[in-house]
Amino acid sequence: MNRRNFLKGGLAGGALTFLGKGKEAAASVAPPPPVSDITMLKEGKYPRGMGVLYDLSRCIGCRTCEAICNKEHHLPEPDLPFDDTSVFERVRRTHEGARTVVNRYKIKGQENPVFRKVQCNHCAEPGCLSSCFVNAYTKTAIGAVTYNEKVCVGCRTCMIACPFYVPAYRYSSAFNPIIIKCTMCYNTRLVKGEPPACVAACPRDAMNFGKREDLIYMAHQRIRINPGKYVEHVYGEKEVGGTAWMYLSPVPFEQVGFDTTLGEKPIFSYVKEFLSIVPMVLTIWPALFSGFYLLATRKESQKIKQQDIGEEGKK
Ligand code: SF4
Ligand code: SF4
Ligand code: SF4
Repeated sequence: MNRRNFLKGGLAGGALTFLGKGKEAAASVAPPPPVSDITMLKEGKYPRGMGVLYDLSRCIGCRTCEAICNKEHHLPEPDLPFDDTSVFERVRRTHEGARTVVNRYKIKGQENPVFRKVQCNHCAEPGCLSSCFVNAYTKTAIGAVTYNEKVCVGCRTCMIACPFYVPAYRYSSAFNPIIIKCTMCYNTRLVKGEPPACVAACPRDAMNFGKREDLIYMAHQRIRINPGKYVEHVYGEKEVGGTAWMYLSPVPFEQVGFDTTLGEKPIFSYVKEFLSIVPMVLTIWPALFSGFYLLATRKESQKIKQQDIGEEGKK
């Protein structure tokens, strides 16, 4: 069952049971519009939001982005240094000590591996935000999805609702358990008109920060002027209603751990559709929790699948 079907069927079913039922060569095509328009950012003009285009074909797995994120946000020192490549032997997820991780995928029939950076995708209509009943999440005008630990009650519903398995839980502090996730460096850099730290530090120009609509243009240009280099799809342009962080890949997205079954509708649109036809008070919490439980079960099997891909990569 894919996520759409789950949310259409699984969530509704649960409730009914309860009721008794980058930098381009312009080439021969038109030049792309300017990106990284920091002036607009500084003036607070970002009507349609900013974003990041990450090109997997440029990433060399140096982990500079991981290291700078660690420094920028005063995260704990990792067990292994950032230049230790043994971390690539398994597919990692973000965790309480890392807002971002880079994974390596060995592709069948291809000599060189492909690297993929993982962090919050800053969805246009975030599942984490929609699922949080104390409003700990905010979708800012600039595009970043931020998190307020002061109001978070630690219920972890957002971890289940995120279609990309991003929010991590800080277990190490019993008195202040909080969610850890990438905030696009909103407080430390975006508000000052600076691009995210990982984007600025990448030595390969694998990430471009700019107006989301310009990045979409840039991505399609890159596909067009480099025939055969990329899969003809910009992941995140439309997935789950669109995300601020978008991807170009030289190999099929599912081979580098992307979920290509999510569809184009925001995760919570299915919930909204369902809730509009049933009495709210009687159904909302049982519906949400039974639905989220099923989603969590599916995520576990997806996680195992991803681990398998990682294991395969080692062979
Ligand atoms: S810094 Fe850039 S090239 Fe290095 S791992 Fe991160 S995204 Fe890839
Ligand atoms: S990727 Fe997950 S954590 Fe990030 S905004 Fe989307 S739903 Fe929220
Ligand atoms: S945008 Fe900022 S918080 Fe997010 S991964 Fe990059 S450096 Fe870390």
